[in-house]
Amino acid sequence: MKDIERTLNAQKRIALIAHDHKKEAMIRWCQKNKDILGNHFLCGTGTTARLIAENTGLPVEALKSGPLGGDQEVGARIAEGKIDMVIFFSDPLEAQPHDPDIKALLRIANVYDVPFANNRATADFMIHSEFFNQCYTCVSEDYTDMNRRREEDIQSVIDRK
Ligand code: PGA
Repeated sequence: MKDIERTLNAQKRIALIAHDHKKEAMIRWCQKNKDILGNHFLCGTGTTARLIAENTGLPVEALKSGPLGGDQEVGARIAEGKIDMVIFFSDPLEAQPHDPDIKALLRIANVYDVPFANNRATADFMIHSEFFNQCYTCVSEDYTDMNRRREEDIQSVIDRK
């Protein structure tokens, strides 16, 4: 399979998401890293975004609330090439009504090789990486050929009838 390259700008478009029991930890993490985060474009699921903005003064674009489609909105932006990385403080001990949306977000982030921190330690490693404030070229698999072959297979079945 071919590889595809995508260059992330030095200024990243970052999506922030935290489950309810992790929201305080997310706010503390954003307060601690406010100076670094302030150099990037931030968005987040509705409640997370609002709480971060109110408690840090950082501008954070609020998408829909997670249970109302916010995680899917983040996923859609990834598919459109409009989000460079995701920082998601997820709660491993509480069932979420929108669990299928979260799984879908993880999958689409993987399709596009989007850096995805699922806990605070990973977020710390990410934010202190030399790539956080520099251009970075992601190299991921190009699934377009595979998808074209799939479409050709479907068309050949249709043509046979
Ligand atoms: P919220 O959504 O920021 O709107 O609470 C987070 C989530 O996905 O649970």
